[in-house]
Amino acid sequence: MLILKKPTPDELEVVIQIRAECCNCGQQALVEAPSTEAAAIKLQRLGWHSFETDEICGTNFCPNCIHELKEIEQQESAA
Ligand SMILES: [Zn+2]
Repeated sequence: MLILKKPTPDELEVVIQIRAECCNCGQQALVEAPSTEAAAIKLQRLGWHSFETDEICGTNFCPNCIHELKEIEQQESAA
């Protein structure tokens, strides 16, 4: 006889989604990670960064905005 029961809890995994928002353009990204520290490492691999220059420190920027920052940096160092 077949008896159906609820899934076994020990075989289930808690997944936490962590959201990052770009401080420049507002783009958002969701990553699954057990902590914000682990999420930061995943986000860095995806191209997200905080940064600092001689003048300012910036918090989380998305890959597009980081790309623009790099281009500005290159133009300034070429000028
Ligand atoms: Zn951005």
